[in-house]
Amino acid sequence: MTNQSIREAAAGLFPGGVNSPVRSYRSVGGDPVPIARGQGPFVFDAEENRYIDFVGGFGPAILGHAHPAVTAAISLAAAEGLAFGALGPREVALAESIREATGLERLRFLNSGTEATMTAIRIARAATGRDLIVKFDGCYHGHSDGLLVKAGSGVATLGMSDSAGVPQAVAGLTAVLPYNDPAALMRWFDARGAETAAVIVESIPANVGILAPDPEFLETLQSLPRAHGALLIADEIITGFRLRRGLSGVLPAADLVTLGKIIGGGLPVGAVGGRADLLGLLAPEGPVYQAGTFSANPAVMAAGLATLEALTPAAYQRLDQVARHLENGLQAAVKRAGAPASVVRFGSMLSLFFRPAPPRDYAEAREADTAAFARFHRAMRQRGILIPPSQFETWFVSLAHNEPEIDAAVRAAAEALREALP
Ligand code: PLP
Repeated sequence: MTNQSIREAAAGLFPGGVNSPVRSYRSVGGDPVPIARGQGPFVFDAEENRYIDFVGGFGPAILGHAHPAVTAAISLAAAEGLAFGALGPREVALAESIREATGLERLRFLNSGTEATMTAIRIARAATGRDLIVKFDGCYHGHSDGLLVKAGSGVATLGMSDSAGVPQAVAGLTAVLPYNDPAALMRWFDARGAETAAVIVESIPANVGILAPDPEFLETLQSLPRAHGALLIADEIITGFRLRRGLSGVLPAADLVTLGKIIGGGLPVGAVGGRADLLGLLAPEGPVYQAGTFSANPAVMAAGLATLEALTPAAYQRLDQVARHLENGLQAAVKRAGAPASVVRFGSMLSLFFRPAPPRDYAEAREADTAAFARFHRAMRQRGILIPPSQFETWFVSLAHNEPEIDAAVRAAAEALREALP
């Protein structure tokens, strides 16, 4: 099949021609690149055109694509049978490895990040006997009804859904506050603290590009909910095992943590973990129901185990070194082009904002010049560099990227910036 024939067939088969919205390239324009295969830092379209990949599967591909240890582990698991609907050895091994690295006392594996955050909230509501949830504008926690909510008109109002099909009765249980604003959080807890079950937050927000958390905000997040008997849920679905072996360390006082992406080694996964007493609320030990035909599937567990084995402290040093090389190169290119753009990096996560200064919250992120980003994306794609198809998605560097790929990306970026500028 050619790239075009895949896109044409998909347009009839799938809404928007895709199975997840951002893949449609709606926000950057042009034809989405159908990926047929990947190897290391590269992906190849259906016509064998090669791209240096900074999408990284939106987070999981920290070792690069088709890492031999991961594919071997998956093959072995497949050869041994895939769907038993029973406890098995690999889930115990992966959970022990995660527990050792994170300090999470207990875990439950699920099939996606969406399931993980949904379950964390159900636990928090059961633990507190309260219904209200606080999230932050621009943080994404998957597509469950209660988390697809945008801010109401004032700070102490409850939300309206971002999506059709979500009952107001559900959306109205979620409040959306501005990120990095401790005063807004204080006002919320003064008004509704006694009704609030949990605050959920990305440890480092990475779904509007990257927002750097302010220390004072992090302090408030970790003290205020607790003082009002509410829980703190740290969403580490992107940041878990991305920045170092284990959790990011940004919210050490979180009561519940959600994981996903990297811990599944490229296969579908989620996990919720935390204090033993809270996890003990899950069925069959406790009254909170949660289940899954495919939960802790042997192939997923095998891929996760092989991935975590490769993620040594030295691996993170190397990731940081390569990602810093990319950051420095992009900074220099931005400066040379005189572009009103800024680069933000945490470890191997990076954002290039078409805005002179890095944003502190979603309102500032929205000021980015998305039309310039769209032109930049197209110019990069024409030069064989694939970055996420939205100003608001984060770039990921993998252990398979080396200096030659980074240098090629920086050279392309220097030219693409000139094309992108109005
Ligand atoms: N939480 C965060 C921080 C995410 O970035 C995502 C997905 O990108 C999710 C939750 C949802 O995970 P999934 O897409 O596996 O359902």
